Amino acid sequence: MESFDLIVIGSGPGGEKAAMQAAKLNKSVLMVERGNQPGGACMHTGTIPSKTLRESVRFLSMVRQRSVYGISVHQDENLTVNSLMYRKRGAIGSLVERLEGNFERNGVKYIHGHARFVDPHVIEVTGGAGKQEMYRGDHLIIATGSRPYRPDFVDFSDPRVLDADTVLNMQHIPKSITIIGAGVIGCEYATIFSNLGVKVNLVNPRQVLLDFLDQEISNALDYLMRDRGVRIRLSEVLEAVDTDDESISAYLESGKVLKSEFLLYANGRTGNTEDLGLEKLGIPVNSRKQIKVNRHFQVAEHPHIYAVGDVIGFPSLAAAAMDQGRLAAKHAFKGGSETLDTNLMPTGIYTIPEISFVGATEEQLTRDKIPYEVGSSSYKEIARGQIMGNTTGRLKLLFHRQNLKLLGVHILGDEATDLIHVGQAVLSFGGTIEYFFDRVLNYPTFSECYRVAALNGYNRL
Ligand SMILES: Cc1cc2nc3c(=O)[nH]c(=O)nc-3n(C[C@H](O)[C@H](O)[C@H](O)COP(=O)(O)OP(=O)(O)OC[C@H]3O[C@@H](n4cnc5c(N)ncnc54)[C@H](O)[C@@H]3O)c2cc1C
Repeated sequence: MESFDLIVIGSGPGGEKAAMQAAKLNKSVLMVERGNQPGGACMHTGTIPSKTLRESVRFLSMVRQRSVYGISVHQDENLTVNSLMYRKRGAIGSLVERLEGNFERNGVKYIHGHARFVDPHVIEVTGGAGKQEMYRGDHLIIATGSRPYRPDFVDFSDPRVLDADTVLNMQHIPKSITIIGAGVIGCEYATIFSNLGVKVNLVNPRQVLLDFLDQEISNALDYLMRDRGVRIRLSEVLEAVDTDDESISAYLESGKVLKSEFLLYANGRTGNTEDLGLEKLGIPVNSRKQIKVNRHFQVAEHPHIYAVGDVIGFPSLAAAAMDQGRLAAKHAFKGGSETLDTNLMPTGIYTIPEISFVGATEEQLTRDKIPYEVGSSSYKEIARGQIMGNTTGRLKLLFHRQNLKLLGVHILGDEATDLIHVGQAVLSFGGTIEYFFDRVLNYPTFSECYRVAALNGYNRL
């Protein structure tokens, strides 16, 4: 039986970074992937395809909205999801090639097949023709990801009833859609469809949209979505779904019935832990089939086994999975106390416009009784915003009233997910808002919002 220092199960962002980190430490690594290509949900059904679709829609809506360019563009009536995603194949093709090249160059042995534990150090891999091989690992990392949660009472056999995977196979753009679940994926698709002129019902079981956001940003998103015609239903729970030739009916517990051409169920994800042989090892999973780990991503029952990425639940982001994978592999071979600093971890939400934040929210600072002040700026105040006809964005800095230390940054607007890294850098070296008015920044840029917001906040003291 072939033996390795590390076996990684699953080649999404969590598994990939774990394998590469171990290879960089000169360890022998086996990567097992049951999908046809490496890259995981991130590459094939999640981040990359949905962002490709979003980019096309954003481009279309930008050209339509911004009369500054003086270009008149008419939307093709025969527009399909496929035509909007024409870049997907090229983008995924070159990313997969890069991934395979990285494995090869770094000596990671990549095999195709479904992995299952036989004992705490041995896995059995069932390949394409049902052929089975056993492999032994000193350490093992489970990075098997997640898939859309499908409740029993929703019949997904109707092609008009979709989840976050099947939505990408949609053949035509519907006139209307009901989206169940207003988490990150639900909100992203709500803005994608509304920007395509589709009538959207967004059903949220909670009282506010994305309640982990700073309240002001969540309220602004709510306003912008409604302004675009999204009908948001808050504190509403789906009870049943019925289909007929004409439409899909979503029955809510409150007695309302929402009729639309399509329904997208995007209310949570389930960890890919079935048929992994976890029960044999006594490793339990929760009701969403996720694995519990400690701060070093070790499984309590077998500390040489780690789990990273979506299979351990929150925050279920590719960005977090990558770091978790890297840290788990480092811990396996070097030990130490390094762990993920969630306070410095940015969150990016690709609604249109996008949202990003790092650090504390106003609600957290108020709860923790930290005396803070707010500095804000908007895209319409700065030259770049006016030149681009892009005036809906805003940036908000939260800082300590006494020592001026930056405590949090919240951005809603184009390029927010890139812009946030300036704030993240200042937060990580414990900088103050003076950084933003003491530095020369390129002009005209959206980064100018940092300086305007810092001055705005300083003047409030
Ligand atoms: C629509 C959508 C949009 C998203 N947008 C973003 C975004 O903008 N930014 C962001 O950071 N995140 C985003 N995400 C989340 C991101 O895709 C996930 O957090 C990320 O893919 C998780 O990585 P992972 O490595 O844990 O698992 P995955 O990427 O799911 O990979 C797991 C891999 O394990 C394999 N596997 C499973 N079981 C076995 C087994 N027994 N044997 C062998 N192989 C196995 C699977 O085939 C799969 O390839 C999005 C997700 C969705 C659905």
